Amino acid sequence: MAVRPENAHHARLLRVLREGPCSRAELGEAVDLSRSTLSSEVNRLIDLGLVEADGLAPSRGGRRSGIVRLASRLRFVGIDIGATSIDVAVTGGDLEILGSVAEPFDVREGPAVVLAKAMALLDELRDRGLAPEIHGVGIGVPGPVSFRAGVPVMPPIMPGWDRYPVREELGHKLGCPVMLDNDVNVMALGELHSGPARSVADFLLLKLGTGIGCGIVVDGRIYRGASGSAGDIGHIRVDDSGPRCSCGNTGCLEAYFGGGALARDAEAAARAGRSPYLAERLAENGVVTAADVTAGTAAGDPTSTMLIREGGRRVGHVLAGLVSFFNPGLVIIAGGVAQMGHTLLSEIRSVVYRRSLPLATGNMPIVLSELGGTAGVIGAARLSSDQVFSGE
Ligand SMILES: [Zn+2]
Repeated sequence: MAVRPENAHHARLLRVLREGPCSRAELGEAVDLSRSTLSSEVNRLIDLGLVEADGLAPSRGGRRSGIVRLASRLRFVGIDIGATSIDVAVTGGDLEILGSVAEPFDVREGPAVVLAKAMALLDELRDRGLAPEIHGVGIGVPGPVSFRAGVPVMPPIMPGWDRYPVREELGHKLGCPVMLDNDVNVMALGELHSGPARSVADFLLLKLGTGIGCGIVVDGRIYRGASGSAGDIGHIRVDDSGPRCSCGNTGCLEAYFGGGALARDAEAAARAGRSPYLAERLAENGVVTAADVTAGTAAGDPTSTMLIREGGRRVGHVLAGLVSFFNPGLVIIAGGVAQMGHTLLSEIRSVVYRRSLPLATGNMPIVLSELGGTAGVIGAARLSSDQVFSGE
């Protein structure tokens, strides 16, 4: 049965309950409704099968208030398609993960093959009995997306996906609402739901992976810009005479410190004899990857550490500009390259704190994501539940 809030009150009540069960009294305070309106709207949501009664709250002096929660039958699905992997998770209405699967997969296989794989992974979870019904699906992809049309638009690292009707095709296949966004916005939503950003209205999520991008959250909502490309900071030019980028320009941040660029520089260092550690990886595997540089830093290889410091410095310069412009309350660093941890973080911090005004940075932590690989699927599920609980 589809989830359809009947009015704006329902939509707001459902979004409050998404954060967890609460008493009718607390709910009334959160949405500012009169006692009688609240009571009739909550009862209606119970009749619709969207909310369940869940016992009585401890007394606050008067009559004990009934606890309500989202119906336990609600299911959302988050699909996080990365450049080299697919993650799928099933969540309850509160977006807690009930089960998940992940597999390495190359997004360049094209939309038909990749989406079929995602559906096969979802079937695995359904076979485990995790999702008898599905009320909404959110998908993140590693490239620019027209949020309104539900299609990727000229994504540089996703050949064959341009204007592919992802939202429409999966909506038909699954018979429920489907939402599509880029992977960075989806990760930012994941942090908004269960990371340190829960209590911060305005923040930036910097994703450093195969691509580089920035999720912009303003007043608790994703800011997408006029045509949906806000936050595409990987293509900000950091050097006029830099290496060529996948977008066709030269000197982009991503062409210096995206996963591919880092692997390229590490391999060059290995071949030039500047790093015995990386030369050994090259001899063993025939290639050097960004993950080798991470491992190299942990193993004390000075060249790996230098590569990460240089990258962190460039990211820091771009971020300092963003901080001056946007004045975020928090910056979260996420993505595969961000697993380089504290060497990277300290370099970024030192540039940003040195170059931005104290008023902007005085109360602005820069932290690594604590959600690991789950930010994408939680955020994708949240994207879908935002839409389903909007009543539109
Ligand atoms: Zn570029």
